[in-house]
Amino acid sequence: MTQPTTQRPTMSFLREELDKLKEKNLYFRLRVLEGEQLPVARFDGRQVINLSSNNYLGLTTHPKLRQKALEAVEKLGVGSGAVRTIAGTMKIHMELEERIARFKKTEAAVVFQSGFAANAGTVAAILGKDDLIVSDELNHASIIDGCRLSRATIKVFQHKGVADCERILKETANWNGKKLLITDGVFSMDGDIAPLPQLCDLAEKYNCIMMIDDAHASGVLGRNGRGTVDHYNMHGRVDIQVGTLSKAIGALGGYVCGSRDLIEYLYHRARPFLFSTSHPPAVAASCMAAFEVLEENEEIIQKLWENTRFFKKRLTEMGFNTGMSETPITPIIVGDAARAFAFSRGLFEEGVFAQAVGFPTVPEGKARIRTIVTATHTRPELERALEILERVGKKLGIV
Ligand SMILES: *Cc1c(COP(=O)(O)O)cnc(C)c1O
Repeated sequence: MTQPTTQRPTMSFLREELDKLKEKNLYFRLRVLEGEQLPVARFDGRQVINLSSNNYLGLTTHPKLRQKALEAVEKLGVGSGAVRTIAGTMKIHMELEERIARFKKTEAAVVFQSGFAANAGTVAAILGKDDLIVSDELNHASIIDGCRLSRATIKVFQHKGVADCERILKETANWNGKKLLITDGVFSMDGDIAPLPQLCDLAEKYNCIMMIDDAHASGVLGRNGRGTVDHYNMHGRVDIQVGTLSKAIGALGGYVCGSRDLIEYLYHRARPFLFSTSHPPAVAASCMAAFEVLEENEEIIQKLWENTRFFKKRLTEMGFNTGMSETPITPIIVGDAARAFAFSRGLFEEGVFAQAVGFPTVPEGKARIRTIVTATHTRPELERALEILERVGKKLGIV
């Protein structure tokens, strides 16, 4: 029998904070997935059309990835047993890094435990307190944390604001330390794409290190899903490319691509690399298989984009505000958080799972539900989802 836990008074502030979230309609319970991450899946006992996963290409359950993971478990066990810099670098980790570098057409790559660790670990390792970081206001939390950990001076430019970015770079033209210009490739809550060519021009003009976080572009944008740099054909003009293995790649992890010196430096200085245990071999094996799928099967990405175009067009025709989205991430912007959460709940009851997001994930007053279609949704599934979105949207006066 479990003992009821008693909370000491020192911890009572937690309940007060949670009550505040409830008052602001920002309190949520975790939705629990029963079974596999599929386009139609069972969450909290209900079968729903799943528009909330980042499983763009359906690779979380792909037979080839599953097979390679199983073989790795059989041959190599379940854990790596150490951090990379002690005894935890397995041959399969090195093979994965070589595979990624080849795929991204860079000299070298290093794999981290997650995209979050890759961003935070890299920014904090590269910059120090005398340096300057110039960052898009909608950059991911892991970039923001990395910036803070670096203790560099942080200056934020308006979302995709090339002119605003240049204003900051002009003002800091005589900066003595290093300068980093950093942007997401695809923005995770809005689905729009960074103005990479213009930002690269600025980075060159003002002598900045150029870094891009391509978590949502990996496996989505560019030839075979090579990302934003490939999409704009900017090879050689971005010093540091971060990607994730947790979204379209279907497993878990993050990586950094760039010059051999960059990667060697991160081997020596990136704290998550030095102080947190490396991936189980099965994770590395699944990722290797995922890159094979991307290179062999171009139709899978074409299908993702066909579904995206179909779904977006119909949402716009229905009168939903999908913001500035240009990718499979399609927000439906509602404004008020309470309304966004009510919309999401109403959809779930009717059989569609589209998560609501409010502050602090998006700015206050810009609450939304966030949808992502995948390559594996069938046309009838998308049609049914659209029909439910329209019905519930009308009921709540959103359209
Ligand atoms: C999801 C995400 C990350 C983190 O990637 P994980 O592999 O899930 O840790 C980093 N940056 C952006 C923009 C993301 O959307």
